[in-house]
Amino acid sequence: ALTTGIVGLPNVGKSTLFNAITRAGAESANYPFCTIDPNVGVVDVQDQRLDELAEMVNPQRVIPTSFQFTDIAGLVKGASKGEGLGNQFLAHIREVDAIIHVVRCFEDENITHVSGQVDPLSDMETINLELVLADLETVERRLERITRQKKSGDAQAIKEHTLLSRLQEVLAEGRPARSLDLDEDERRMIDRSLNLLTLKKMLYAANVSEDDVADTDDNPHVKALKRQAASEGAEVVTISAQLEAEIVELEGEERQQFLEDLGLSSSGLDRLVEAAYRLLGLITYFTAGEKEVRAWTIREGTRAPQAAGVIHSDFERGFIRAEVVGYNDLMEAGSMAVAREKGLLRSEGKDYVVKDGDVVHFRFNV
Ligand code: GDP
Repeated sequence: ALTTGIVGLPNVGKSTLFNAITRAGAESANYPFCTIDPNVGVVDVQDQRLDELAEMVNPQRVIPTSFQFTDIAGLVKGASKGEGLGNQFLAHIREVDAIIHVVRCFEDENITHVSGQVDPLSDMETINLELVLADLETVERRLERITRQKKSGDAQAIKEHTLLSRLQEVLAEGRPARSLDLDEDERRMIDRSLNLLTLKKMLYAANVSEDDVADTDDNPHVKALKRQAASEGAEVVTISAQLEAEIVELEGEERQQFLEDLGLSSSGLDRLVEAAYRLLGLITYFTAGEKEVRAWTIREGTRAPQAAGVIHSDFERGFIRAEVVGYNDLMEAGSMAVAREKGLLRSEGKDYVVKDGDVVHFRFNV
């Protein structure tokens, strides 16, 4: 499963947020592997469509899809130089697919800030710089090796050398690798050999106080963060970590009421999952049978057999075809039977690219 790593300076609210995530915890019976690693938290992905589908089909079980977070505490200034447990933490970031960078935007004189004052821009820069420096080291090490190979006239080595030099230039200016325009070929070249931290997708989570969460317009820290994020092309999700810890304790009506009283339509955690989904290019498809109505996560662009493989590898191996109806079509029809009658249920082959909201029934050989 894809995972996002939560990073940020000390005392910005990472643990508070991560605790909310683990307590929100997805039905662990569905994800037994997740209980093993204390740094991994899995949450259910809220999806109105799943509820509506369940209402229509009335199955024995309803299972939402899930999303995984990894807590990567301990990133400090100097990490790339091995300070604190620096390199170890950077190694953990290498393993995630995207980064959520928590930035402190709440004032509280009782909680010390590592640099003496709340200053999102400086915090963003500090963390981003550590990642850039770590990447610069990776690139330069590789560049040394490739320079030797290039001397033998190897065409691939010459190409990689040019690319690495461009990367080195960008990183040396303190800019992330993702700011370089790379074509697919170039991307593959460095993805394989380097796994750069600043090439990973990233979004910012602005941690604000409870009082600010419904309306952040008056919070100068959030404003500054948003302006900077926009210049980087990064998304910002405002969240109150402390409040999230309270929200996850509530369920159903009670929770809805609590959010409404705060002037919110959804929890920060739900908005964070949504944003991370978009960041990673993920979509949801559904299976809907009498036993079980269930949501599944795939990457946008996934073909039917591989989408089936998310359920079980046998489904992918033995794939014959997929019976597909779009969510809206199905809802309009009112039932699977009517959808079939109206010809809204299509039979798709192995080249079909599954769409967000597709309700799918796979046919396969065992
Ligand atoms: P971490 O070092 O980034 O993991 O930060 P923690 O989650 O441990 O938070 C540091 C301190 O800030 C803790 O005492 C939290 O209770 C507090 N804290 C976290 N979020 C908020 C917030 O939104 N408002 C206030 N006032 N305190 C917060």
